[in-house]
Amino acid sequence: MGYVKFLGTAGARFVVARQLRSSAGTWIELDGVQMLLDPGPGTLLRARKSRPALDPTQLSAIFLSHKHLDHSTDVNIMIEAMADGGLKPRGTLLAPRDALEGEDPVVLRYVRPFLKEIQVWEEGRVHEVGPVRIHPVRHDHGQVEAYGLILESSEGRVGFLVDAKFHPQLAGRYEGCDLLVLNVVMRDWKPEVDHLSLDEAARVVDQAKPRLAVLTHFGMSMLRANPRLLATRLSEQLGRPVLAATDGLSIPSKDWNKGA
Ligand SMILES: [Zn+2]
Repeated sequence: MGYVKFLGTAGARFVVARQLRSSAGTWIELDGVQMLLDPGPGTLLRARKSRPALDPTQLSAIFLSHKHLDHSTDVNIMIEAMADGGLKPRGTLLAPRDALEGEDPVVLRYVRPFLKEIQVWEEGRVHEVGPVRIHPVRHDHGQVEAYGLILESSEGRVGFLVDAKFHPQLAGRYEGCDLLVLNVVMRDWKPEVDHLSLDEAARVVDQAKPRLAVLTHFGMSMLRANPRLLATRLSEQLGRPVLAATDGLSIPSKDWNKGA
């Protein structure tokens, strides 16, 4: 059975720099296909220390939503690990153009031959990894090119609303998801921050109506306020299940794919 496993739940600079929560990425298995989203600092370590240990050579794809450090630091080592130390070219990297080209690409050129394929996210295009179809959703997230993802499989529709500045059309893009994972960095809205606040996340969940919503990628203000408590309150307020992710939390697809 498929699952989504949070190897890390840290967001924002201080929580990442102090490792108050792990900043490793999210491991996903759907229809037997293993994929990794946003390999932040510590991803390889957390994957190998995970119980049961996760095997990078079983990955079919690595998704990079954007090139900020807390999402991309381990991308090069994970590409090499996916290819069994570079011995067997393997897998697909899906990434924004500015992670690959321009002044400050985060994907090293010398690891690129370890990949079978590199695809550049294109809004409106449907990317495919085996039987899993991936719809990128362009986000407004400051100076970098950033995308959220919707993964479609026989185990349901799983949305990852990664780093984004709120706009009123955002929720509409994530309607129809069975599971919706939202990066909620801050509790209170701040005009200068390109991230969702808790209230904005609530608006998205209320409109998009996923069967299950999961909050993750927490900054200091979220951690101080106890994410589990905030998620419980949100659940009561919205009348639908909302969870706060913890490091190592694995959610099996039966928890969101009720039709199965
Ligand atoms: Zn970011």
